[in-house]
Amino acid sequence: MVRAKVEERSAGAVLFYNDGGIRKYLLLKHRRGHWDLPKGNIEAGEEPEYTAKRELIEETGISNFRFYDGFREEIEYYYKRRGGILVHKKVIFYLAEALSNDVRISREHVAYKWVDFEAALKLASFNNTRKLIRLAEEFLSQFK
Ligand code: ATP
Repeated sequence: MVRAKVEERSAGAVLFYNDGGIRKYLLLKHRRGHWDLPKGNIEAGEEPEYTAKRELIEETGISNFRFYDGFREEIEYYYKRRGGILVHKKVIFYLAEALSNDVRISREHVAYKWVDFEAALKLASFNNTRKLIRLAEEFLSQFK
């Protein structure tokens, strides 16, 4: 069994924009190179959904969005911090529609892209990110 020294909890969102009838997902390129979804650390006493909304605003500059009730997915992974400390991280993801596509990234990221479903699966760096985008697409298909 893996014994992590540190536990981290973050929350974020699969964010999409309806671009003339084509659903586009937002992926952010992290300073360290990977393409991922907007997310961030849950501060003490914060509700994860509040964190996800706060991080969306901080990391994308978009504050005009609509969260969907009924979508709440948790992923987990391990990574090593510099110095070798093993971290076990759980991240809760919500699903939100952006009502604007005008993105302003923070200093944590170096680029962003709005991409359709197939391109998002190709661009995302991690399997669990791909899984979340698939789940979002499946969830949204009920509204067609
Ligand atoms: P946060 O955005 O939650 O504040 P952070 O930017 O400090 O976090 P992470 O994005 O969790 O940190 O990245 C820490 C390490 O975990 C990086 O080395 C990254 O490669 C890896 N990592 C990030 N996201 C995932 C993921 N979805 N699956 C597996 N490994 C990941």
